[in-house]
Formats: sequence, structure tokens, C-alpha cells
Amino acid sequence: MYLYNSATHKKEEFQTHTPGRVEMYTCGPTVYHFAHIGNLRSYIMEDVLEKFLRYEGYDVNRVMNITDVGHLTSDADEGEDKMLKGAKRENKSVMDIAKFYTDAFFADCEKLNIKVPEVVQPATGLIDEFITTVQGLLDKGFAYFAGGNVYFDTSKLDSYHVFHNHEEDALDVGVREGVEEDSNKRNKNDFVLWFTKSKFEDQALKWDSPWGVGYPGWHIECSCISMKFNGEYLDLHCGGIDNAFPHHTNEIAQSEAYLGHPWCKQWFHVAHLNTNSGKMSKSKGEFLTVSLLEEKGYDPIVYRFFCLQSHYRKGLVFSWENLDNATVAFQKLISRIAALKPDNGEVDGAVLAEYEDKFKSLVGNDLNTSMGVTALYDVLKAKTTDATKLAILASYDKVLSLSLLDKAAKVREEQAKAQTAKAAGGYTVTGEGDPAIDALVLARGEAKKAKNFAEADRIRDELKAMGVEVTDVPGGASWKKV
Ligand code: AMP
Ligand code: ZN
Repeated sequence: MYLYNSATHKKEEFQTHTPGRVEMYTCGPTVYHFAHIGNLRSYIMEDVLEKFLRYEGYDVNRVMNITDVGHLTSDADEGEDKMLKGAKRENKSVMDIAKFYTDAFFADCEKLNIKVPEVVQPATGLIDEFITTVQGLLDKGFAYFAGGNVYFDTSKLDSYHVFHNHEEDALDVGVREGVEEDSNKRNKNDFVLWFTKSKFEDQALKWDSPWGVGYPGWHIECSCISMKFNGEYLDLHCGGIDNAFPHHTNEIAQSEAYLGHPWCKQWFHVAHLNTNSGKMSKSKGEFLTVSLLEEKGYDPIVYRFFCLQSHYRKGLVFSWENLDNATVAFQKLISRIAALKPDNGEVDGAVLAEYEDKFKSLVGNDLNTSMGVTALYDVLKAKTTDATKLAILASYDKVLSLSLLDKAAKVREEQAKAQTAKAAGGYTVTGEGDPAIDALVLARGEAKKAKNFAEADRIRDELKAMGVEVTDVPGGASWKKV
């Protein structure tokens, strides 16, 4: 595949250190709050990337950290530890906060069909390794001890700003304005590897170290976790664009200084999800979560579909109207798939292979997921058997993970039930000729009959989110688009 590499600012042919094997690393969440749907945009795109590499035949080892210590509110070395901030906010211990929000993160991932990486490592579980690496950097002369902290000395590097010098302005996110400089730092860009002199007295988690009781800086965790579980040569490192500087810049600095050779070949950065009022941010406290989407009656997979419709390197604007449009488009797509008959003909292997190749070349052009989505409609129009079309859609869905066939099967089931009810002179649904909506309205009627009002309300909200108004009429219900 061809992939844009933020380190070289070019689209390049994807290559790995060991043929056929991808060592992939993803910066995981800072677990002091729920992940917002912006964070999850990054994880969705990284998930598609991983699945596409597997589709191309690679064996992928994906590693992710969980940041449960050391990430200060400024993304650099100023401010409060985010975990401590979360614990204070909720009057709980840091470890309780970490456990709760780690579980919440993976629950969200499951709802969005995001696969769990092969290795998930919380930072607090590997402190000894961090200490060894910091000691190694001191021994090699790349770090110094000052004012109680250990700092990385960026003046010892040939080049530091590796991601700079290109158009992505967002790289300046981590640059702070009006923040008092730490007078222990020898150079402006030096960063903390190990804190003992906490700027706040009640740091909850502390460990003994050769430099005194303290805790690690944020950046060291990703270098160490990757070196331990991916090995010395990393093929692909992912994260949101705000991670590029200073986080990834510092990861490169310390990993290459420690290893003494180039570390990671390809850098994949996902542009931000924004709202009309700006970037969605966890630290601002106001943000949208997967649970909120669900409460409003949206299917989380529709959010995934919405993300896939645009390119990962372009900013994406979230609005309820955009999500409504995605809901309608997704529902129509599922209806069309549901209309295919699984027992219509045999699977034509040659056609399947031809379409798989087409998909590889479309999506393989810098992870062009919107072309991947468009390809689904081309399959529906193809001149082949329904069985072949379904086989191709199932194949594409290994990468897109939109649960296409399961959702279509459910619609077929509901349609069959509706037919039976109609034939029995039972509940009748009239509407504007969309079998998928008929089926939902029928399911609502059945839930009401069974006095399952919670389910009936849930379906009504789902229909409302799709812009469908349901009216109860004698012997059934009728619906219309509003
Ligand atoms: P955090 O939990 O803050 O460490 O962030 C988790 C991931 O989400 C990182 O890869 C961030 O770069 C990414 N991220 C943060 N904000 C956004 C956003 N608004 N849109 C897309 N990705 C984001
Ligand atoms: Zn990281």
C-alpha cells in the first residue's frame, strides 16, 4: 500500500523491517475521562489501517499503551497530572479512575467495532523498564539531572524537530505560550524523563528510583512499551495529529538516543474531529461521547461510517445534521444489502478476486476509506449473482467493519416477521416504501404489544434520529419522513 509518512512528508510505499510482518504502535488514551468521539476518530482510522494491512496479508503486532500516570495538562512539563485531576474531580483514587475509564474506553471500542490491540500495557505496570531506559540515557550522555528531575538533553541530537517543515500547522499544538520556562532545562526543548520535584505536593503515585521517589514523564512510556513489545525496529507509529509535537518528537529523540539507530520508519497521524465551535478536547470538559450518541438514538456504527466517509488527513466537522445524513445513507445501504438474496446463485470466485484487488488498490492509496465506502455501492450495481455480491461485501467488511451482513440479516428477519404478521391479519405497517423502516416500525409495535415500553421507546427514538415520524393507527402504525 501507499501511505503518507509524516516523517518524510511524502506518500510512500509501505515497507516493513521484517518482510510480511508489521510492528505497529498506537498511543493509547489518557484514562482520566471518557474518550470523546474525536479521540475515537483516531482509533477508528488506526483500526481500519491495521485491518487493511492484515487484508493485504501482513501479520500485524499492534501495541498500545494506557496512560495512567505522567501526562500533565499542558502536554509538556507544566500543569497538573491529568490522572490526579480526574481523581480529584470524582473524589476517587487514581487507580479507580484508571480502571473505570480504561474499561469505558474498551466498551466504546467494542461498540465501534474497533479491535483490541495484541498488547495493551498500562504505563504504571512497567516503571522498572522506564527507570532502566532513563538510566541508559544518562549513561550515554543524552540526559542530565537538575533540580531533582532527569531531563533529556535535546542539544545532543543532530536534529530534533523531525516533523516540522511541512504544512500541518497542528504540529504547533504543544507549543506553549505564556508559560514560565523551567529554569532547570539547559535547552528550551528539553523534556522531563523522570520527575522527583513534583510541582504539586500530593502526587498520588510515586516510585523509588536512583534519582529519588518520583514518577515518569509522559513520553518515556511509549518508547519503552514499544521497545519491549515491538522490538528495536518499529514499522508504523500512529496517533492523532496533536501527538506529533511534542509527544512523538520526544519519543523519537529518546528512542533513537537509547538504541543508537533509527527507530520508526512510518508515522501515521489522524487529523482532528472538530465541531463548529472548534477542536473537540477532553480537557475542556465538554465533549461528545459514544454513550451520548446512543442516548440520542444513534447507532455507534453510523459514527464509524461517518468517519470512513472522509480522509484521515483532513479535518472532519461533526454536527448532528451530518450524523443524521450518515444515518439515512447507512440505513439505505443496509436496506439494499438486505434486498440481496443469499441463495441467489453460487459465489463466483473470479469476480470475488477481481473486486478484492480493486478494493486493495483503492483503499491502499493512502488509506482512502471514502473510496472503500464508494466501492460498496459498486458491488451492489455489479452484474453478478447476489451470493457473489454478498461474498464481496463480507470481504470488504473485514476492513471497514460496519457489520454490514449482520445488520442486513436482521433487516431480513424483521421483514419476514412483518410479512407473517401481515398475513395473519395482525399489526400492519404503512409507510413510504422502505422495508428497513417498515421492519423497525413493526418491531416497535411488537414491543408495545409485549408491554416492553422501554424497547418501544428506544426504537421510536432510533426512528426519530432517522427523521421518521410514527403514528399509531387502528390495527398498526403508519410512518412518514419529516
Ligand atoms: P488522549 O486520551 O488525550 O491521550 O488522546 C487519545 C488519542 O486521541 C490521541 O491519539 C490523540 O492524538 C487523539 N485526539 C485527541 N483529540 C482529538 C480530536 N479532536 N480528533 C481526533 N483525534 C484526537
Ligand atoms: Zn505515545
